[in-house]
Amino acid sequence: RAWSSAEVRSAFLRHFQDQDHLFVPSSSVIPNKVQGTYFTNAGMNQFKPLFLGTVDPRSEMASYKRVVNSQKCIRVGGKHNDLEEVGQDLTHHTFFEMLGNWSFGDYFKEQACKMAFELLTSVYGLPAERLYFTYFGGNTALNLQPDDECREIWRSLGIPAERVLPFGMRDNFWDMGDTGPCGPCTEIHYDHAGVRDGAGLVNADHPEVVEIWNLVFMQYQRQENGTLSKLPQHHVDTGMGLERILAVLNGSRSNYDTDLFQPLFAAIQKASGARAYGGKVGQEDTTGTDTAYRVLADHARMYTVAIADGLMPSRNGLGHKLRQLIYRCVRYSHNTFKADPHLLCDLVDCVSASLGEAFPEISKRKDVIKSAVAMTVEGYLQLQKEARQAFVKMLKQCDSKHLSGEVMWQLSEGKYGCSVPVDLMLDLAEEHGVSLDLQEFEQRLQHVKEQQSHVPLIEEGVISQRCYESLQKQGVTATDDSFKYQYSSSES
Ligand code: ATP
Ligand code: MG
Ligand code: MG
Ligand code: MG
Repeated sequence: RAWSSAEVRSAFLRHFQDQDHLFVPSSSVIPNKVQGTYFTNAGMNQFKPLFLGTVDPRSEMASYKRVVNSQKCIRVGGKHNDLEEVGQDLTHHTFFEMLGNWSFGDYFKEQACKMAFELLTSVYGLPAERLYFTYFGGNTALNLQPDDECREIWRSLGIPAERVLPFGMRDNFWDMGDTGPCGPCTEIHYDHAGVRDGAGLVNADHPEVVEIWNLVFMQYQRQENGTLSKLPQHHVDTGMGLERILAVLNGSRSNYDTDLFQPLFAAIQKASGARAYGGKVGQEDTTGTDTAYRVLADHARMYTVAIADGLMPSRNGLGHKLRQLIYRCVRYSHNTFKADPHLLCDLVDCVSASLGEAFPEISKRKDVIKSAVAMTVEGYLQLQKEARQAFVKMLKQCDSKHLSGEVMWQLSEGKYGCSVPVDLMLDLAEEHGVSLDLQEFEQRLQHVKEQQSHVPLIEEGVISQRCYESLQKQGVTATDDSFKYQYSSSES
């Protein structure tokens, strides 16, 4: 029997509601000041005041003891930026739902692990022998003890020692920043292959083993000088990806083989007449069609949700991220699918059909979302038209099949009547059978960057994601700095 996303979501919520958890609706993907400066990237974001002890005692939040929800998350930019993974693998999205339960000074490790285990094995019916459990293995330099308590809890639930594994700070210790509440975490991974002694696969980006759930135990407070003191109150913060658990429950290695993505694929296929989605990844996806399917379907969910929460495509900040993402979709729908880019608006209907019940703001604002997307598409098409004219004008003057970095720079600076973004330059060069000296162009950018030392070039739209990717393919790493600047300048 196949699980639907709605069933998986509601079974999660019910399991915790039955154990006295209060359902708190998802917060917006656009954070407020307290929550950070990037997109909401985890269920805990809206509860930060409770962890930090800054909650207004008169607010409703102050009374929260046990909470459950399904949080809309976006991981584009900030500390968790999964944009590069999207389409390339089968388990990372720009937008996903994080199912979570919380204890604010209420239950701690034992109950948290037991409730999670019960949900996975009894409610969802997963075989326990396919699950791996990780715990914090300690850190001598920081004088942090291994979380033996956690290990023993999993062992007491009947998990054999070879599937309860210790990992270090990176994977099993959680913090909010350089100071503040922090603590060990325990993660649950699912092994599709059922390999014996597969311990080496956990946390190794192995396609057969997928991380499904992270349970964080906040028990320390990190001081300015780096030392840890005990928190007066212990908290639990957990997060499980809905798309991942849904795929696992249906025996699939791919989040895309679920009701959350299939209707989007069908709509893309219908609009383009392309061959059906084939599920191929990486080298195996020789034409790049399956990757394009994934990118387009993934991004459609992201822009739909972001606009539903009130963000508009724009020149700066999060709105710029959104605009770039929509531009990227136009390019995929045109380059790979030869489809009318207004397909992007049809995809809003699909997303609304699949998420509108869980998140009514999407169905309620469907028309606004569609017109915002349509406007952005029109804007891109206009830009493309002007860029093409500029490119042709340049070709006439230069009369060469190879464009130097200097010429690229002039194009991007608007010398030929329109500032041509590098993404479009790549498209146009291909169209006209012209090669580009990206390396020289990069040096040119680097030079400008040095002159204006702290101007984030990507943010300014001078150099885009796609340009960066294509530079990377050529082994050019000089853009790393400007790239990182954009994606790390405001952590959340
Ligand atoms: P991964 O190691 O796979 O990147 P993570 O450790 O970054 O995941 P957490 O921050 O622990 O993820 O988030 C909790 C859960 O949210 C994960 O266990 C996973 O199920 C889900 N999740 C995290 N990132 C994504 C994503 N980009 N797309 C879909 N689900 C995700
Ligand atoms: Mg991650
Ligand atoms: Mg991880
Ligand atoms: Mg994790």
